[in-house]
Amino acid sequence: MASLSTLLPNPNLISKHNSTLSSTHPCAYSWKNKTPTSKGRFSVSCSSSSQAYDVVVVGAGVIGLTIARHFLVSSDLSVAVVDKAVPCSGATGAGQGHLWMVNKTPGSATWDLASRSHQLWKTLVQSIEEQGLDPMVELGWKQSGSLLIGRTDAESDVLKGRVKLLCEAGLKAEYLCSSDLIKEEPDLLVDKDSAAAFLPDDCQIDAYRTVAYIEKTNRSFASKGRYTEFYDDPVKCFIRSDSNGEVKAVQTSKNTIYSKKAVIVAAGCWTGSLMQDLFRNWGMDLHVPVMPRKGHLLVVQNFNFLQMNHGLMEADYLNHPTISGSESPDHQKNLSVSMVASIDAAGNLLLGSSREFVGFNTNLDESVVSYIWKRVGEFFPKLKTLPLSDLSASRKVRIGLRPYMPNGKPVIGPVPGLSNVYLAAGHEGSGLLMALGTAEMIVEMVLGYPAKVDSTPFAVQKVLV
Ligand SMILES: Cc1cc2nc3c(=O)[nH]c(=O)nc-3n(C[C@H](O)[C@H](O)[C@H](O)COP(=O)(O)OP(=O)(O)OC[C@H]3O[C@@H](n4cnc5c(N)ncnc54)[C@H](O)[C@@H]3O)c2cc1C
Repeated sequence: MASLSTLLPNPNLISKHNSTLSSTHPCAYSWKNKTPTSKGRFSVSCSSSSQAYDVVVVGAGVIGLTIARHFLVSSDLSVAVVDKAVPCSGATGAGQGHLWMVNKTPGSATWDLASRSHQLWKTLVQSIEEQGLDPMVELGWKQSGSLLIGRTDAESDVLKGRVKLLCEAGLKAEYLCSSDLIKEEPDLLVDKDSAAAFLPDDCQIDAYRTVAYIEKTNRSFASKGRYTEFYDDPVKCFIRSDSNGEVKAVQTSKNTIYSKKAVIVAAGCWTGSLMQDLFRNWGMDLHVPVMPRKGHLLVVQNFNFLQMNHGLMEADYLNHPTISGSESPDHQKNLSVSMVASIDAAGNLLLGSSREFVGFNTNLDESVVSYIWKRVGEFFPKLKTLPLSDLSASRKVRIGLRPYMPNGKPVIGPVPGLSNVYLAAGHEGSGLLMALGTAEMIVEMVLGYPAKVDSTPFAVQKVLV
């Protein structure tokens, strides 16, 4: 396990690597030249230029930003982060924030990465506390525990088996029969067939607060010339070295950003199409089958209409059943809606979650929001007395495109044939959970450190020349 000190920013580390960047460079991050963007965030205003960093990260979602953070806090390398927009504009901004193991399966391909990441989040929380800060304020952190809810005999059996497996894997897990469950969640509809798997150590973060915290950590390295952000600046192409064929720079719409050691592409659901675009000019084709899987998250602000003590997920979530038959117009054939509910650190009710394949479309679909509300009402009958239309003043909907991989595993590792380019994408509905483990894995690969988690299942496959 990484020691606490390796996870904290070391203000004494000064880059020996970033020779061309100085704090007076027009693109160096500085609080003086920050300008509000249309989304109310701050970005660095850059004139067209070129400069060099050890590591260039493409994508400022939770995966790209945590990778940048891990390089900054555990090495003396300099890092640039590039995004076509701003952090939280991708899937990250719609994330419900659950760092849950209750829906993960011991022995599956992603289990070790998920558990390592879960552990790293807890270590980060501990380090925040040791600095005298409150992780609830910094990350929106809550350890409220998770309940996976079953409503039939068959689901109860599945939950019993899951609890056994989770306990054998070393987690604290309990099987709750209906009488235990109603004590934990008095407002939940519970009958004799109801049951749950309960993981008291499962926790949640707020994606926005967490991203802001990670950005704050990363920016603490800017004054040393080790960190720069290039936001609202899409990557257009890679520039390859004539001598060894490696990628030596990332060309954005405004800048040429040279990389001395590695380029990490963490562009979420855009990773596949981006890599194809970047490779086309070289007669190469890298097929990364990551697809956008749209999700709506309904947020009801300052919610106190019912009691919800833990985070809840229906057992059927594990199957993502599609809405079919008379309920579903043709265009929603792919839609699945499962009940996932929690209260965040600010007291907002978060209700998910929907899944559908509709390309890169991120338009609000009110019918999906209604499905979510209806589904949650089947578990919390009190909500049925509250029409969705009454909540128009207090509700928001967040929409994001999960980076879906058909084999259910993210892709993390070097691109065959281009040893200094790495991919880190395809975490679908678990990118917040798996971010810290992914970041550690990428840093270990780039720096040649021994791996804490076997990365073989996540290797980038198939380069066609
Ligand atoms: C409704 C919903 C609920 C979810 N709930 C949870 C949860 O409870 N727990 C959990 O662990 N996960 C959850 N997830 C999943 C999680 O949000 C994602 O897995 C995660 O955010 C993916 O992060 P990312 O950094 O890979 O992608 P993104 O956040 O999408 O970031 C990719 C970035 O790449 C940038 N980019 C794209 N193309 C370019 C380019 N050409 N040049 C430069 N930049 C580019 C984009 O602008 C974007 O900022 C949820 C997702 C949704 C939609």
